[in-house]
Amino acid sequence: MKRPYCGPAGAAVLAVALTAALGGCKRTEPPAAPPPKAASAAPAAPAAWKRPPIIDFHSHLSVDGLQRIGTIMDQAGLAKVINLSGGSGRQDALQQRMAKELSDQLPGKIVNFATPWWRGCCDAAWAERESQGLKDAVERYGFAGLKISKGLGLGHTDQSDQLVAPDDLRLSRLWQTAAELAIPVCIHVADPRAFWWPLSQQNERWDELGVHPYWAYGPVSEALLATFPEQAQEMVRQRPKVASWSGLLQQAERLYRAHPQTLFVAVHFGNAAEDLDYVDGLLTRNANVDIDIAARVGEFGRHPPEKVRAFFEKWQDRVLFGTDIGISAESLMLGSNGAVEPTMADVLPFYQAHFAYLEGHGRAIAHPSPIQGRWTVDAIGLSPGVLDKLYSRNAQALLDRVALKKRLALVRPSTAPLGLADDATPPWAKAP
Ligand SMILES: [Zn+2]
Repeated sequence: MKRPYCGPAGAAVLAVALTAALGGCKRTEPPAAPPPKAASAAPAAPAAWKRPPIIDFHSHLSVDGLQRIGTIMDQAGLAKVINLSGGSGRQDALQQRMAKELSDQLPGKIVNFATPWWRGCCDAAWAERESQGLKDAVERYGFAGLKISKGLGLGHTDQSDQLVAPDDLRLSRLWQTAAELAIPVCIHVADPRAFWWPLSQQNERWDELGVHPYWAYGPVSEALLATFPEQAQEMVRQRPKVASWSGLLQQAERLYRAHPQTLFVAVHFGNAAEDLDYVDGLLTRNANVDIDIAARVGEFGRHPPEKVRAFFEKWQDRVLFGTDIGISAESLMLGSNGAVEPTMADVLPFYQAHFAYLEGHGRAIAHPSPIQGRWTVDAIGLSPGVLDKLYSRNAQALLDRVALKKRLALVRPSTAPLGLADDATPPWAKAP
């Protein structure tokens, strides 16, 4: 049995998307459980500045969620949402046609990204099929990008049943096609660092892992395992043996540098919100890599606010606003999900928590996805110019194929040594 991945497609979108993404941590003690103060609904943005209509670059939409999507966009002030669950070309592109049907209902407001169909990976026929499928998605259905889920490296297997790594050369054709089309590739690699640490109630991501123990890659004791429902136990036992957290990030960086003419958006804050210095190095070394902030405010928000603010100032042209919201008629995902299903009443506060962190100056405020960790964050009060780029202009630039082609023409392959993220296990997270 495979565990579900973020970035699915078609009708099952939420069931799978609800898996989501998330961050790890810098702290070395188990978290206490202070109830966070509610985020201020009215962040202390500069008086003369007005928040621009926002582009949420990381969402998972289901065609039956149309009404809710419209309501949420109006409430939160979203001009556009990027639907990373546009689906693959299989079954005569059924999922992609459904995604187009959805975006046609709200013209100019929903932009679909395609997802590969991994069955049959990774021989030449597969590469040809997926490359052609991507071209069709762009040329026939108006798609604007490609999304790769964390299944690459963590779950997708080839015809010999071996895990396929992000830097597998057999996938090259796909990245080349994205370069030729001048469309961005949003790529999720690995998971929060704490998911590799021992699974226990001491794990700082227990609120998620206690509900979804099969999200964890670390060891778990038989005694704890026995407390989970039988199906979850089975899923834990069948977990594939995966690379380490930093090992996966290195595989991803090898991919980025092997394809300097392809623009990669390393989602979830470069897939390494736990290690700000590593992400800084990643962007320094690879001019063809941008990042989004989806479902990671709580994680990078644990670093000192001055340091995070300086990061956003430095990389103001290469960071995209995104939330990892999932919307269908029946369910919602707000960055991640745990024991309690969010409701429509939770959506506006979710966006407001982002605004309060990015624009305001509050101390010890709630982050947008408290399920991802019981701690608070200190706001970073970005300047109006940086906020405008983060909320809208950087996204517009990636959706402009002519501009993107021009930008990529200037990229030279990186020759710097690969970066290594710090995946050390903290002393409190001992094996059970
Ligand atoms: Zn996602």
